[in-house]
Amino acid sequence: MPRTLLGVAGFPVAHSRSPAMHNAALAELGLDWLYLPLPLPADRFAETVRALPGSGFRGVNVTVPHKLAAHQLADARTASAAAIGAANTLTFTDGRILADNTDAGGFLDALAVPAKPLRAIVLGAGGSARAVAWALVDAGAREVWVWNRTPERAAALASDLGARHCEHPPRADLLVNCTSVGLDPSTTEEEALEALGLADYEPPAIVVDLVYASDPTPLTRWARRAGARVVDGLEVLVGQGARSLEGWTARRVPVDIMRRAARGR
Ligand code: NAP
Repeated sequence: MPRTLLGVAGFPVAHSRSPAMHNAALAELGLDWLYLPLPLPADRFAETVRALPGSGFRGVNVTVPHKLAAHQLADARTASAAAIGAANTLTFTDGRILADNTDAGGFLDALAVPAKPLRAIVLGAGGSARAVAWALVDAGAREVWVWNRTPERAAALASDLGARHCEHPPRADLLVNCTSVGLDPSTTEEEALEALGLADYEPPAIVVDLVYASDPTPLTRWARRAGARVVDGLEVLVGQGARSLEGWTARRVPVDIMRRAARGR
């Protein structure tokens, strides 16, 4: 029996923590499966993905810049992938490609408190902001505001998903950074706050930063100093990865093992 394969398709993917995280979980589950990094430039994405089932792949995670293309090439989509308009998980089954978006549920798992009573501000209007804003709206959060450097994109996203857009972040209980600010580890806290319209803003009770390029990121440093509860990007990565792996293996997955591997411990 050839080995079952999984992977993460992106460009670049060499930096990805997903192979270590998933392979640790597969070993713990006693499955002789292998999770591989798949560096795919945009012009090779669709043809390569269509060939993967024939090479023993059960599914793949999809990251920058392919989440939209993954949504488009699928034969069927889960409700979350359809509503968000992007997919981070593809499953190959019976000659068909099913697209899912586990970024949304993975974010709520990482948040680890009910979203319903929360007034939330989502920073960004790209792919991850769509997933997070949809997750919060779908979970019935009290208010979901979207702020973005390019305000028209925030307005479009908010109108698509039933959220509200703003030009200045309002007071909130939860702030989620879904921009790439902080991805460059040389960004100072002052520069990051300025870029995100937060120069005069007090951190709310909970701050989630999807960026995990450094620990701390400028935003998590700012939030921790003010005593906020901080959920970092690695926790969100673990959340989405656990949901993807659960779907592929139909098993309860060892989240602690995944967390330790993602954090290199
Ligand atoms: P994306 O689609 O490229 O969106 C990027 C967003 O960042 C846009 O809203 C953009 O604003 C904003 N932005 C970029 N540079 C900025 C600057 N200098 N000042 C203010 N805003 C700026 O990216 P994405 O896929 O949503 O990902 C965003 C971040 O989340 C990335 O760092 C990614 O690594 C991280 N992420 C983490 C996870 C996880 O599991 N932890 C999952 C997904 C993504 P404009 O519209 O004005 O250009």
